[in-house]
Amino acid sequence: MQTPNEAILHPRDIGLILGYRCQAGCAHCLYNCGPGWHDWMRVEDVTAALSHAKQVWGQGFQVHLTGGEPFLNFPLLLQATRIAVDLDIPAYVETNAAWCRDPDQANDRFRQLRLAGLAAVLISVSPFHQAAIPLERTLTGITAAQEVFGASQVIVYQADWLPGMARHGIEGTVPLDRYVQTFGRSQAGQRLWQGYGLISGGRAGYRLGGLVDTRPPEAFRGLSCRGELLFAPHSHLDLYGGFIPAFCGGISLGHWRELSQLVDAYRGGDISPFVAVLTEEGPFGLYQTARKAYGYQVLLDGYAGKCHLCVDLRKHLVQIGAFPEHLLPESFYHQIKDLPL
Ligand code: SF4
Ligand code: SF4
Repeated sequence: MQTPNEAILHPRDIGLILGYRCQAGCAHCLYNCGPGWHDWMRVEDVTAALSHAKQVWGQGFQVHLTGGEPFLNFPLLLQATRIAVDLDIPAYVETNAAWCRDPDQANDRFRQLRLAGLAAVLISVSPFHQAAIPLERTLTGITAAQEVFGASQVIVYQADWLPGMARHGIEGTVPLDRYVQTFGRSQAGQRLWQGYGLISGGRAGYRLGGLVDTRPPEAFRGLSCRGELLFAPHSHLDLYGGFIPAFCGGISLGHWRELSQLVDAYRGGDISPFVAVLTEEGPFGLYQTARKAYGYQVLLDGYAGKCHLCVDLRKHLVQIGAFPEHLLPESFYHQIKDLPL
C-alpha cells in the first residue's frame, strides 16, 4: 500500500512533450504551443526521460507522446514509440489531426505507429481547435485512427462538440467570434468555458478571459495549489528537462535528469520558497510576494481564474529574472500573445 508521502510526485499518466511546435496555436492552450517554437527533443533524451521515469515509478504509469503537435516530427514520434515499447511503458499519442489532409497518409502513419507498438490515439476536438483546423481533417484523422487501432482504442476528446462544430461546416476554419455572434458574449462564454471545462492557464486567460466575468486577485485568496503541484495524476516531462506538474504550463518543479533526487526531496518536504508559496497559499500568496518584493502591477481588467493570475505573475517574474529554476521553459512566457479574442 502507498504511504501518504509516496503519493507525492507520483503521476500515472506522463506526457512526454517532444516539442512545443504546433500549427494551431489555440486560444485555450495551456502550454502556449504554436508555430513560434522550433526545438524537438533529442532521441537520447527520450530514452533518458523515460528511463528515469521507469526507474522512479516502475510499472505504475503510462506515457502519452505529445506536444505541441507530435506528428510534425513523425520520425521522432515513431522512435519515441519504439523507445517506450522497449522500456515496457504503455504509450499513446495525442494529436490535433491538422496533418490529416490525405486519408491514405493518415492511415499509413497510424499503421506504422501501431506496428511499433503504440496502444492508442487521442484526437483533440473543440471549437478552439476548429478555429485553426478544418473539421474535415479531424474527421479524416478519427476515421483513419479507428480503422487502424479499432474504435475502442481511439479517444476523441471532446467528442460531444462534434455535432455543433459540424453545423458550422467542415471544410474551413471557424473563428471563435462566431460563437459570440451566434449566442452573445455571456452565453458563448458559458458554452466555451463551462462546456469545455477550460482552465485559465497558458494563454486561455488572456485570449478568452473577455468572455467571462473577471475578478481581482483577492477573489483567489485561500485557493492553494497543493493538489496540482504535489499530487497530480497527470504531469509532463519536456524536451528542455522540465517536470511540469498537472496542467501548470510554464512551471518546472525541477529537472527530470535528477528525477529520483527530486522526488525524494519533495517527499521529504524539501520544497523551494516558490513552490512552497503556491502549495500553501496558491497564486494569491505569490501575488502578495510579487507585489511587495518584485513590483508586480495588478491587471485592472481582472483575471479569468486563479491560473490566469498565476501566469500573469510568472510572466512578470520572468521579465525581472526571478525564480529562473522554476519558470521554464522561458519561451513559454514569450509565446502567450495576449491578443483579444
Ligand atoms: S491545445 Fe493542442 S492543438 Fe492547440 S495549440 Fe496547444 S498543443 Fe496545439
Ligand atoms: S494557479 Fe498556478 S500553480 Fe496553481 S494550478 Fe494554476 S498554474 Fe498551477
